[in-house]
Amino acid sequence: MARYAMLIDASRCTGCGACRVACQMQHQLPPNMSFNRLEFRERGIFPTVKQEIVPVQCMHCDNPPCLHVCPTNATYKRSDGIVLVDHDKCIGCKYCMTACPYDARTLNEKRVPEKCKFCSEYVVQGQEPPCASTCMCSVRIFGDLDDPDSEISKAMAKKSVYQLIPEKGTRPRIYYVKK
Ligand code: SF4
Ligand code: SF4
Repeated sequence: MARYAMLIDASRCTGCGACRVACQMQHQLPPNMSFNRLEFRERGIFPTVKQEIVPVQCMHCDNPPCLHVCPTNATYKRSDGIVLVDHDKCIGCKYCMTACPYDARTLNEKRVPEKCKFCSEYVVQGQEPPCASTCMCSVRIFGDLDDPDSEISKAMAKKSVYQLIPEKGTRPRIYYVKK
């Protein structure tokens, strides 16, 4: 069984936003809605301040609080690790939005919470999600951690990585390359 994950090298990101547009086009989202975002953060103290750009989206957590609080089991996790929402079961209570420490969910036009799906329809065909394939700077590597020959497995073996907000115990499937 596959164990899908993503490795993000934020230091390569130029902030061009192509990943965001690719996601919007893939899911036919309006301009004010996206399943991924770029966080512009400042590090250091003047005059040695540096800006870093951190791409953020659903982390497909192994211990997802959004799933634990869902009263109807609309939010579920597939055996390959992708966290999805069954819109037929969703009652729009938004508990999942409150529970997510990454602010990864957004309301659609029907007021139902939506989020990154790791583009599961591409993944089953062995392709990458458009946010990864569109990026000219190769910021994202998507793949199967259970396949030792996958690009992500090889990259993870070589690099030191971290996860966002690890103290929440969510065990994200999105990893970031340490600088
Ligand atoms: S990032 Fe948020 S929405 Fe995604 S699986 Fe984790 S808790 Fe759920
Ligand atoms: S809004 Fe939908 S997916 Fe979120 S917790 Fe409520 S029922 Fe579950």
